Amino acid sequence: MPASPAWLSEGAPHVWRPYCQMKTAPAPLTVARTEGCRIVLEDGRELVDGIASWWTACHGYNHPHIRQAVEAQLARAPHVMFGGLAHEPAYRLASRLAALLPGELDHVFFAESGSVSVEIAMKMALQYWINRGVAGRTKFLAFLGGYHGDTLATMTVCDPEEGMHSLFAGVMPAQPVVALPVNAASEAALDALLAERGQEIAAMIVEPRVQGAGGMLFHDDEVLRRLRRLADRHDVLLIFDEIFVGFGRTGDLFACTGSGVTPDIVTLSKALTGGTLPLSAAIASRRIFEAFWSDDPGAALMHGPTYMANPLACAAANASLDIFETGQWRADVARIAEGLEAGLAPCRAAPGVVDVRVRGAIGVVEFDRPVAVGALCAGFAQEGVWIRPMGKVVYLTPPYPISEGELAQLTGAVCKVVGANG
Ligand SMILES: *Cc1c(COP(=O)(O)O)cnc(C)c1O
Repeated sequence: MPASPAWLSEGAPHVWRPYCQMKTAPAPLTVARTEGCRIVLEDGRELVDGIASWWTACHGYNHPHIRQAVEAQLARAPHVMFGGLAHEPAYRLASRLAALLPGELDHVFFAESGSVSVEIAMKMALQYWINRGVAGRTKFLAFLGGYHGDTLATMTVCDPEEGMHSLFAGVMPAQPVVALPVNAASEAALDALLAERGQEIAAMIVEPRVQGAGGMLFHDDEVLRRLRRLADRHDVLLIFDEIFVGFGRTGDLFACTGSGVTPDIVTLSKALTGGTLPLSAAIASRRIFEAFWSDDPGAALMHGPTYMANPLACAAANASLDIFETGQWRADVARIAEGLEAGLAPCRAAPGVVDVRVRGAIGVVEFDRPVAVGALCAGFAQEGVWIRPMGKVVYLTPPYPISEGELAQLTGAVCKVVGANG
């Protein structure tokens, strides 16, 4: 195997890598191409992808249907600005998303990343109150364990400890970040907080069902019903950030469809294009949208990312929805859940493991302390799998079409590397 390709050594002094202490981190693995559920490295090794490239590649890589759609759109129009111009991929995608989402979540605002869609949802919530003539609704209520992005405003609604952003405490106005109402006591505490401070709060924001980057923490749908009840009781908006759980990951297409709880705004990204191109959306209910519908130009939502509704990305998202329409993903997610349950069970006995849990196509092994990410990644690569732990968890979120054999290889590698095989 070549020690290191020239492009890596030449580019390495110039590329600033994500979430990375550049001085001490091991060199990144070099990717030649992707195929199915595998990442093929420059040295010829093939790694089964256990985390679907940060939860994006839900159909695996290089899906021919998405590729054809993107190639056709590339030949027609790779990009046009969205101000004053319209194109079929975006308008078709908006109507399809509105049809898939529950209630009156009908108004789709496109952006290019998850964080920006959360920023837009927050801005919609703030301006909803301003446009209705209600002053003082400037705060967001968020939940411990949550993660909503890395930009300045989204950092304020992340878990202050787990959210990776504690250095910046004090830079932005602090938001109340409290425990999820998982039981009667925490529900009463949230009820009391909203009774006291509800007049300051524009919206509550939550990752429904599974808090992802904050530690793969699960809660049941009763929590979401409580949040909806409390939001209604105190007249506070409710935002579901479904950037991680959306598109089938928990076994329902969306948490809001599966739980029967309809938020006022929902954010989507990650698997929206099947892991091919950057795209996100903040989708508002009619109630929100109507507060902006006016003869007053000042009541408009003044936002418009340059690459919003990129036609290539929208074509990819439409093709991804076609694949979802076959319904195969449901059986795949159920099959993956079974495979994760059985395959990860031996980890319960491994040193330092405090919990093993599965929800849909998400399998989690939680430790009593933060894990050594670099060393574990290297161990996983030796087992022929790509898995990147975070914080205290080693987790699997494979692409839905993963084969039985590949899934067994993933769970086997986790068991072996965390020392579960005795
Ligand atoms: C990844 C993620 C984001 C941020 O998305 P980016 O595209 O990385 O900006 C926000 N919310 C949740 C729940 C996420 O998982």
